[in-house]
Amino acid sequence: MKLKGRTALVTGGSRGIGRAIALALAEEGADVAVNFLSSERAAKEVAEQIRKMGRQSRLAQADVGDYPDTFRMAQDLLKEFGHLDILVNNAGINSDKTFVKMDHASWRKVLAINLDGVFNCTKVFIDQMINQNYGRVVNITSVIGQIGNFGQANYAASKAGVAAFTKSLAKELAGKGVTVNAVAPGFIETEMVSGIPEKVRDKLLGQIPLKRFGTAEEVARAVVYIVSSDGDYITGAELSINGGLLM
Ligand code: NDP
Repeated sequence: MKLKGRTALVTGGSRGIGRAIALALAEEGADVAVNFLSSERAAKEVAEQIRKMGRQSRLAQADVGDYPDTFRMAQDLLKEFGHLDILVNNAGINSDKTFVKMDHASWRKVLAINLDGVFNCTKVFIDQMINQNYGRVVNITSVIGQIGNFGQANYAASKAGVAAFTKSLAKELAGKGVTVNAVAPGFIETEMVSGIPEKVRDKLLGQIPLKRFGTAEEVARAVVYIVSSDGDYITGAELSINGGLLM
């Protein structure tokens, strides 16, 4: 087991990619806290599965877009776990509309959760990671932040912002035992992409050399690689998991 004795928090760990990451970290021996916004039942199920593996788990409810709420969550979690080694900033939303139809509220909401949320969660744990001279931060970005997309100006901007944040923080914290990386999935089978119309899906599949969408577990394995000792020499990277969509 590669993560025995480590503690982790996965934001948006109740569903989709975050759920798969939380379970994969626990499978490798980590104690894992599951953050969620409103899916308490789903988050409880994830925590229960983690406990069945013999690890500790905690529910860590908070709106990551809200700094005071995130600060409160961090204080509670640090009391319960004692310390945090691994932070996976995964929580994210989309609110797609062409720019002409996109209103300010939709722009703000996506930026508040996807970009401010990464600032908030990292900010509330980073001093403790620096003090213990060890930390692994992984931010889930997106191929859309790398190439842009029709109807996703808000989402693309948020993810490109997180990618730039990742590199800046990696440079600042490299001498303090903390690595900061991003994982950029392409199209992954979760609720987020379940609304894509059949026609658009077929068109997308035509652009993906591996001819399929990815799975949440395939993204989770990349995160485990980065945060385990296998990834000790990786910082400031953005690892693409996209079936060849961008190369
Ligand atoms: P899902 O919609 O399946 O899950 C989103 C998760 O984020 C849920 O756990 C949700 O909690 C949580 N969440 C949403 N808003 C907040 C908030 N304000 N505070 C705390 N938690 C919140 O998404 P995916 O699993 O598909 O996506 C996960 C990440 O991966 C996102 O950052 C997304 O942008 C990124 N990504 C996804 C891709 C895909 O194709 N699916 C491709 C590239 C990147 P709750 O259940 O309580 O609502």
